[in-house]
Amino acid sequence: MTHSREAWSSVFGEATALLQDLLRIDTTNPPGDEREAAELLQRELAKDGLQSEILEAAPKRSNLVCRLKGNASSEPPLLLTGHLDVVPAGDLERWTHPPFSGVLADGMIWGRGAVDMKNMVAMSAMVIKLLARWEVPLRRDLIFAAVADEELGCDLGSRWLVEQHPDKVRAGFALGEIGGFPQRVGKAPVVLVQTGEKGLAWLRMRVRGTAGHGSMPRPDNAVIKLGRALSKLNERLPFHLTPVVERFVRETARLQPLPARLVMPQLLNARLSATILDRLLPDRSQAELFHTLLRNTVSPTVLRAGQKTNVIPDQATAELDGRTLPNFSVDVLIDELRAIVDDDQIEFEVIKEHPATINDPPDSELWSAICDVVKERAGLPAVPYMIPGFTDGQSFGRLGARWYGFSPLWLDVDGELRFSDLFHGYDERIPEDGYHWGVKTLYQVVERFCRSRI
Ligand SMILES: [Zn+2]
Repeated sequence: MTHSREAWSSVFGEATALLQDLLRIDTTNPPGDEREAAELLQRELAKDGLQSEILEAAPKRSNLVCRLKGNASSEPPLLLTGHLDVVPAGDLERWTHPPFSGVLADGMIWGRGAVDMKNMVAMSAMVIKLLARWEVPLRRDLIFAAVADEELGCDLGSRWLVEQHPDKVRAGFALGEIGGFPQRVGKAPVVLVQTGEKGLAWLRMRVRGTAGHGSMPRPDNAVIKLGRALSKLNERLPFHLTPVVERFVRETARLQPLPARLVMPQLLNARLSATILDRLLPDRSQAELFHTLLRNTVSPTVLRAGQKTNVIPDQATAELDGRTLPNFSVDVLIDELRAIVDDDQIEFEVIKEHPATINDPPDSELWSAICDVVKERAGLPAVPYMIPGFTDGQSFGRLGARWYGFSPLWLDVDGELRFSDLFHGYDERIPEDGYHWGVKTLYQVVERFCRSRI
């Protein structure tokens, strides 16, 4: 069904207002309070006759779930999802417009959560409302879940929903963050779609020594031993190639001008990869990103040792934020760390872990719909990629959903606004027309994938 330009322009107005309203509700996490936002969505959905439920793992930690039934065929449901919570706004002085004002100025919609990710929440709500309003016959159920607590690890949000209410959110496919925006990889503009996310492996590294008086230095001082071990962690862990990264590199390499077209595939060569990234790629942040996609990583974050200046402590610890590639266990990561620190007295303990989530290969009817709509509306290829962090995809993936990070947003690839700078940054904002592009793009993908064939 095609809808007139007038119909879409009124939809766009409605979509902007909904996003502004969501941005005006402070859902900063911590402490986290998603209730008002969930209730706003519930009222908006009801205007198109959609029933929804608000489910709370703790007071005010609200998750909203809404289902639009298909025609009872056996096709697996599609889940549209986004998180309602946002990271703290930080220093208010550094915002051009207050972070919870939802101001529309200079063609931009401003506010904490504009890109991460109330835009996707508002777009998903619009899509399910429009399918209901326009009475589009569906061959599969469409589920919309607006969740709490993603920014602190999903415990009261998607993870809780998956564990406590699996029947409400089980889907065969899911669209969420992070992807659907154009970006240059090397020189080629592409639309990135996340189909993999690394696993998490938080570790504690412990070194023991002998306690004593600070006036009597000891060679087995635990703090010194820990420092020595930490300094070795600057070395990169071993190179590993995973299918999602291989496809990402091969597909983006083909789009490059010469000589990059020939050089880029060498990133997949274990012997040449690091040299190319360190010497030949001028964009340092892109080079570092490639490094993280080609290996397990750790970042030391929290150090603990000693209480008093004149007492040598008997132990020292460092917490490491470890991230693992698909199909690599935390044990493999620990073995890799042991080989680097080369000290059998160092103990490793796992604080928290979950494996990587991967939708590989991504090919499916939904993937085809994404590629076709992106090509039609942006003239660019969609390319699957992996992110080094994690999203709600790791929760919904446990119920079997194939995750596509696709929250479409049009940005000028050569413009000043860089997607990566907006995430958790000051002056978080999105161009209003880029957001409207996203609303219609998401609608078309979902309609193509869900509409009845007759
Ligand atoms: Zn997010």
